Amino acid sequence: MNPISTNLFSHLELTNHEQVMFCHDKESGLKAIIGIHNTALGPALGGTRVWKYSNESDALNDVLRLSRGMTFKSSISGINLGGGKAVIIDNPNAKKDEKFWRRYGQFVNSLNGLYITAEDVGTSTKEIEYIFEETKHVAGKPFHLGGSGDPSPFTAYGVYVAMKSAWKKATGSDSLQGIKIAVQGTGHVGQYLIDHLMSEQAIVSIADINQSNIELVTKKHKVAVIDPNQIVTMDTDIYAPCALGATLNEESIPNLQCKVIAGAANNQLKDEVKDGDAVMKRGILYAPDFLINAGGVINCYTETIGEYSKEKTIALIDPIYNKVQEIFDRSAKEGINPQQAAIAIAQERINKANMNPQTHA
Ligand code: NAD
Repeated sequence: MNPISTNLFSHLELTNHEQVMFCHDKESGLKAIIGIHNTALGPALGGTRVWKYSNESDALNDVLRLSRGMTFKSSISGINLGGGKAVIIDNPNAKKDEKFWRRYGQFVNSLNGLYITAEDVGTSTKEIEYIFEETKHVAGKPFHLGGSGDPSPFTAYGVYVAMKSAWKKATGSDSLQGIKIAVQGTGHVGQYLIDHLMSEQAIVSIADINQSNIELVTKKHKVAVIDPNQIVTMDTDIYAPCALGATLNEESIPNLQCKVIAGAANNQLKDEVKDGDAVMKRGILYAPDFLINAGGVINCYTETIGEYSKEKTIALIDPIYNKVQEIFDRSAKEGINPQQAAIAIAQERINKANMNPQTHA
């Protein structure tokens, strides 16, 4: 996206955001931007990211991009949440102590529940606890505060369910026994995903730039460890990106050797249209990231509606299997790539809710 200096409203018209809030507190050094993309289906839920942005325009672009993604993620998951996200511009001079986070919590609270925050890159349960001192509009809280804890196991479960579904579409069977799967990134989600894959006797290869995360897996499971530079394009049945975004790009796509792509990372396609089309033209099935990594937000949703239970979350994650099939069918029928098909389905639910604001579709 272009740098934003002027014409802010015409930019928001393009991205179709409802509200953007700039939060500034001179005393604590807090500089945050809360993006509320769409609340047709419910309050805008999305994590708070702390990042060292090279300029404020990048921070704004990031919050706009991420909050839009949350709208589609919640919509396609069938949950009654809208899309929001917050970014905090990491300033080394600001002491990110309790006062800082409580001040941020006051800003979140001032939105009266229109925005619900959660953890993201750079925030942990510690920060969530401070924010929670000032506002009840927080999800992903630790268990001792009545929350649902770490969302990663649920994200991993959703990716596993989606992977089976995509494999079924590719081969007619959803058994992963003896299937070669390359997992890039053995962090929170990657490790739980590998547990599922190993319990189904898949043949798993892993790569990570963090040796201690590799060791956590190799101590537990018999897996092949691959050079991080080789994992994306290695000869495998399924590639599972669980590290960074944009690994599907004009350089990697011509060299992919997999039949299916299904992983947890956000924004796997560098360009949703161009790269999504290129993957499709290669005959590789790509399971849309924002649908299949929605287990975490679904877990937050079950927390926000009260009487949290793992079973309720799992019951909302399991339908990802059929949604993956529906998306591949629509993609084939309309000749659009699966990411575009998933966005279309998500948008239709929002449009329906806009027409009937009392009944969330
Ligand atoms: P994490 O930080 O715990 O794990 C990421 C892992 O990727 C780390 O071990 C890191 O060392 C590794 N990594 C980074 N660069 C790499 C590279 N070039 N090659 C190989 N490995 C590399 O993060 P996570 O919580 O496991 O999330 C993984 C991905 O899934 C992220 O993109 C995240 O945005 C997305 N996601 C996570 C959740 C969740 O519930 N945690 C929900 C939705 C989406």
